[in-house]
Amino acid sequence: MSIIPSNVVCPRCFSKNLYRFGKDLEGFQKYQCRMCRRQFAPDNPHTGLRQHRLYPVCPRCGKASFLHHDYTYYSNFRCSDKKCNHSFKVPKAVAIPRPSSHLGPETFTLKGMRHPLYIILAALNYYFCGNSTTRKVAYTLYMVHQVRISHVTISRWIKRFAPVFQQISSDFLLSARLCDSDEWHFDETYIKIQGENYYLWIAIDSETRLVLDFHLSKTRNSNAAHILLSSCRNKFGQPSSAVVSDRYDAYLLPAKLFFPEADHIRVESFEDRISNNIIEAFNNQFKAWYRPKRGFNSYDSANRLIATYIFYYNFIRPHSSLNGLAPAQVAGAKYSDKQKNFWLLVA
Ligand SMILES: [Zn+2]
Ligand SMILES: [Zn+2]
Repeated sequence: MSIIPSNVVCPRCFSKNLYRFGKDLEGFQKYQCRMCRRQFAPDNPHTGLRQHRLYPVCPRCGKASFLHHDYTYYSNFRCSDKKCNHSFKVPKAVAIPRPSSHLGPETFTLKGMRHPLYIILAALNYYFCGNSTTRKVAYTLYMVHQVRISHVTISRWIKRFAPVFQQISSDFLLSARLCDSDEWHFDETYIKIQGENYYLWIAIDSETRLVLDFHLSKTRNSNAAHILLSSCRNKFGQPSSAVVSDRYDAYLLPAKLFFPEADHIRVESFEDRISNNIIEAFNNQFKAWYRPKRGFNSYDSANRLIATYIFYYNFIRPHSSLNGLAPAQVAGAKYSDKQKNFWLLVA
């Protein structure tokens, strides 16, 4: 085990998570940062990287600071002057992973599906629009279509279609112009997976009610907020007026970092009528769908089901507050007849 001297930190992201990386041309010890991959030789006077101070100076009084708390995506420094005692956060130049809504490239084939497509789509519609369980869907298919299909097969179909819907939805969402819209709302709510709490983070556009993105995480902390907000920024830019969240601290830094041109409005959960209508409308519908299932049996299955649920929410289910249109239609989506037939065969 090589020991890294305690006064060596990454000049870019202030991480101490380093390893030795050989010597540079002049024979000085080099290090590489495990967080941001930056290579540097702190003792080489010629590379200009000799750090007089390990950490940035206090923006209020100009004195030295120390690392108060280290987080995955930012560092929290505190002024070493006791009277000033200013605390400030500096984002790290590290890559933020994609949210769980990104399912990755997958090939989809109808091969091995022994039932006609209209039966499969009927099952999906009962499940996602009718707030049904797979057992109830199996029963409905038997009553309405006289086909006997086990609830296990139905649950397999539902998960298998997730990447198809994701493709349709990301193709459309990338072409949508959502920066014209005023406000984006962020919220987190918990769900159960194998009896344990997980957090579903969502972003909703106030004008169209479109769910912009989601992320499913084990922990409720600022990492998850960073992941969701950075993904929205990358995909859609910034809202023209504001980002709205509850008073939870996790949103503070990512809101400032990714949406510098928008105001950050923090509201008391469930008390502010103005903003939480939008989130509440989603949460109520989501819970009506989620509750009969009494939790999910794996992270992957929860993630896929939620991805497809959100597709139905955005593209298929008519919203009474939108005059019977789906959010994607309000956002200007033009579905071709062929697509419509495919999605809405039995709706
Ligand atoms: Zn680094
Ligand atoms: Zn200070």
